[in-house]
Amino acid sequence: MRDAEFFRRWLVAAASAVEREADRLTELDSPIGDADHGSNMLRGFTSVVRELAAERPEVPGAVLQLAGRTLISTVGGASGPLYGTLLRRTGKELGTAAEVSDDDLRKALYAGVGAVAQLGGAAPGDKTMLDALVPGVAALGTSYRAAAEAAEDGALATVPMQARKGRASYLGERSIGHQDPGATSSALLLAALADAADETADGTADGTTEEDA
Ligand code: ADP
Ligand code: MG
Repeated sequence: MRDAEFFRRWLVAAASAVEREADRLTELDSPIGDADHGSNMLRGFTSVVRELAAERPEVPGAVLQLAGRTLISTVGGASGPLYGTLLRRTGKELGTAAEVSDDDLRKALYAGVGAVAQLGGAAPGDKTMLDALVPGVAALGTSYRAAAEAAEDGALATVPMQARKGRASYLGERSIGHQDPGATSSALLLAALADAADETADGTADGTTEEDA
């Protein structure tokens, strides 16, 4: 079972990944966007970590809803409302339970990704974050690591696509040949989730040791 601390660890890991990769995300957003995806994500996730430390929400659903609200209020670009909606909707699905199962989380994320598709009107193949999120969440039934890998493959698969949503779509055929920045950050998010799950499995982060087991 996953408690609030697990979700906090996920988002802290996501914030570190965004910090590490911010320059690359902005570089990807240069040829097919306005070169702000790295700074948008960095501002958003830095605020998320700060808000989580200040408010210390006690249940998984509240952690994700606070994170989602924070992204919506601090990120000006398209990605803020979209990622904000992903986390808020996922958090809402988890409700007020103190602990949730991996299956609960899988279903909640599935609903969260559906909310992103509804808000942005995009589908897989449109060269957006959904090209990483949809295959990523579909692979959650296998494992968190499989989900991270499917999302990474999905991000790489955006290179030959022509953008049909968002700023990159204004470029038409000239958007072909570039990796989508949002799909790339979505892969980071799912890799951070797999890292948080690994930490728990190792017994390094939840206070248990092999001797306890
Ligand atoms: P902006 O495009 O406003 O500058 P960002 O640069 O932060 O915002 O984010 C761009 C990313 O947002 C794109 O790479 C794409 O993955 C994602 N995106 C844009 N529009 C949509 C949409 N309608 N649906 C899903 N994702 C979208
Ligand atoms: Mg941009």
